[in-house]
Amino acid sequence: MLGLMQSHQLLISSLIEFAERHHGEGEVVSRRVEGDIHRYTYKQVASRSRQVANALDQMKLKFSDRVATLAWNGYRHLELYFGVSGTGRVLHTLNPRLHPDQISWIANHAEDSVLCFDMSFLPIVKAIHGRCTTIKHYVALCDADKLPADSGIPGLLSYEAWIGAHSSKYKWPSFDENSASSMCYTSGTTGNPKAALYSHRSTMLHALAGALPDALSMSARDTLLPVVPMFHVNAWGLPYSAAMTGAKLVFPGPAMDGKSIFELIESEKVSFAAGVPTVWQMMLAHMQAGGLRFSTLKRTVIGGSACPPAMITAFNDLYGVEVLHAWGMTEMSPLGTVCTLKNKHLTMAAEEKMQVRLKQGRGVFGVDMKIVDGNGNELPWDGKTYGDLLVKGSWIISDYFKGEGGSPLVDGWFPTGDVATIDADGYMQITDRSKDVIKSGGEWISSIDVENIAMAHPAVAMAACIGMKHPKWDERPIIAVVKKPGAEVSRDQLIAFYDGKTAKWQIPDDVVFVDAIPLGGTGKMQKTKLREMLKDYKLPDA
Ligand code: AMP
Repeated sequence: MLGLMQSHQLLISSLIEFAERHHGEGEVVSRRVEGDIHRYTYKQVASRSRQVANALDQMKLKFSDRVATLAWNGYRHLELYFGVSGTGRVLHTLNPRLHPDQISWIANHAEDSVLCFDMSFLPIVKAIHGRCTTIKHYVALCDADKLPADSGIPGLLSYEAWIGAHSSKYKWPSFDENSASSMCYTSGTTGNPKAALYSHRSTMLHALAGALPDALSMSARDTLLPVVPMFHVNAWGLPYSAAMTGAKLVFPGPAMDGKSIFELIESEKVSFAAGVPTVWQMMLAHMQAGGLRFSTLKRTVIGGSACPPAMITAFNDLYGVEVLHAWGMTEMSPLGTVCTLKNKHLTMAAEEKMQVRLKQGRGVFGVDMKIVDGNGNELPWDGKTYGDLLVKGSWIISDYFKGEGGSPLVDGWFPTGDVATIDADGYMQITDRSKDVIKSGGEWISSIDVENIAMAHPAVAMAACIGMKHPKWDERPIIAVVKKPGAEVSRDQLIAFYDGKTAKWQIPDDVVFVDAIPLGGTGKMQKTKLREMLKDYKLPDA
């Protein structure tokens, strides 16, 4: 016997329809590329998203065609979140921090049809537009009078003129909730980047679970500042959860420095903020230098890389702000665990409680986890035994876009590449990364890419890149190099060799010349041994 309840497709358009109807006066505030503060309401977001929908229809884009963005966190980007996905096209958020070669490779791989970009990224678009073979329309996210006459990009449109020419009346279509809604590329440790392709259903379930009290606990009484970029896993799904709950949204635009973020928190009375540790480090340094205090901030979710204990203590003890340590991945939409306490923890001594808070947290409903040994046997949840962390759930990847690399699943579970413990209360803690990827300022640097460039130098016989702890950027890459016999190259010459071959922040900070790089039985470099060899090494500016 089937239940006798209505069945509606879970579609992203329903979020903005809901926000318009139930939280129409709810505010969305953005610091713009233009420098000023822009302020409007969910009602206007909804209205302009419908103009975006009409404008896309007029371009004759097909269902599932990709519309790419190169944009900061801001209101126009938000309109594209709803306007693009709502019509059944796929929003593809490109990461502007990548090298133009990588961006154009990714845009071609995704077969993007349209590229909408903030004017700050015009130099990137100028560099790539000749190489992007599928993009037919370029849209600058600005007013018509801000379009440069000499952009060099044929047919460049201004967003305001583009959507301004269209009606705000639109009936969002209904379609299968399993249809793709957005995509985000993750830079793999080996080979080319791969894309996670989210569906309407996965996005909606993720937004619902993310808003729960023991996850991010979002409500209409919140003022939310997502510092985490909208080009990184849809800003952890926060724009969707915000529309679902009616939370006021505050977007930082391009001003990500500690001073600007602090000022925005204060001026907009932000109660809840989300970002990677690097951002908060800059803000805390600014506050400590000026003896500043928050007047409204209550909690902050920190994830993307491990949150240092000193940061949790600073937020909690100095400023009375609760830190929610969270863990996830691009392939997981990204929410996996959030570190919220249980009743039993509340009476614990401060130090004991801190040990719990340092963990990456417990699974939100919808995500199951397990740790396994090298043979795939499940390991106990005792908080001590560590193993490879596997996950499954309705917002976790089943395949990469275009099936690249074969199925990523093992018996239906997704191997995260992280090594972790899980305790008896279900709190997971990352102990290590099985991948050697380097996390710098919340972004990934592929150690193989860094090595490949060094290996192209005529004097280099072998090169191995590893991350070194850095007080500001979390990690920075260094490269260990074995010179070819009789060949000469200096540290500065090798660093200069990277110029123009990769993004500036992906260039290693230092070169260490070694006699040999430790190799394993199958001829693979053993980076754990290399790290041991270099354990007394200090970065030049650390
Ligand atoms: P990304 O797909 O770029 O979001 O990166 C996902 C990876 O970042 C995970 O597999 C972890 O290795 C790492 N990561 C994310 N959050 C945390 C965290 N809270 N602590 C430690 N590592 C994290």
